[in-house]
Amino acid sequence: MERLQKVIAHAGVASRRKAEELIGQGRVKVNGKVVRELGTKVGPNDKIEVDEVPVESEAPVYFMLYKPRGIISAANDDKGRKTVVDFFPHVEERIYPIGRLDYDTSGLLLLTNDGEFANQLMHPKFEVDKVYVAKIKGIPSREKIRQLQRGVMLEDGKTAPARAKVLSIDKSKQTAIVELTIHEGKNRQVRRMFDAIGHSVLKLKRERYGPLDLRGLNAGEARELTAHEVKQLY
Ligand code: URA
Repeated sequence: MERLQKVIAHAGVASRRKAEELIGQGRVKVNGKVVRELGTKVGPNDKIEVDEVPVESEAPVYFMLYKPRGIISAANDDKGRKTVVDFFPHVEERIYPIGRLDYDTSGLLLLTNDGEFANQLMHPKFEVDKVYVAKIKGIPSREKIRQLQRGVMLEDGKTAPARAKVLSIDKSKQTAIVELTIHEGKNRQVRRMFDAIGHSVLKLKRERYGPLDLRGLNAGEARELTAHEVKQLY
């Protein structure tokens, strides 16, 4: 027997917190009866519905995608543009991205139907290190790099200490390649951090997500995570 909100989250319907809200709002039925009790336990034979739609418990699946630039990190787009989920035409489970990469950012993105897993990875307390490589305008001074490392003030607060390393500079083009490792996930954080030190981002790629990297994948390619990789993250 498992808690109702956990089963709903595992089925990929909503995050656990959202599932709790759905229950509180009287939108969840167990065996035909509205249940508002958060701790309710359900078993495999109980029939769960959210908004009158049966919750099918899908087996959890986990993928990584090398997201190309120019693709939306969402499960669907109201303007009908291609999304990261469109790279998985043969996957029947309702997968969605864990967090997002900007339209113009490429790199490692995880997708799953496991709401609990997604929720945990996105929670600030569990945030894993994410390694970004940015091509920036101008050549940053040591002090600017130190500012990134110490944390910079953004509209929504100061960023946590980060690792930042200049990988190369191109004097003739006046650009630099900088590796930045952060564990937070504020919206457009990397671009805003570089803006804050006066060097705008020309190109951005996420190279690593916790223990995972993009080895073996080309842009637009995806693979399933191994059971070991899932365990490393969970
Ligand atoms: N930070 C950004 O600015 N963009 C991304 O896509 C990811 C992190």
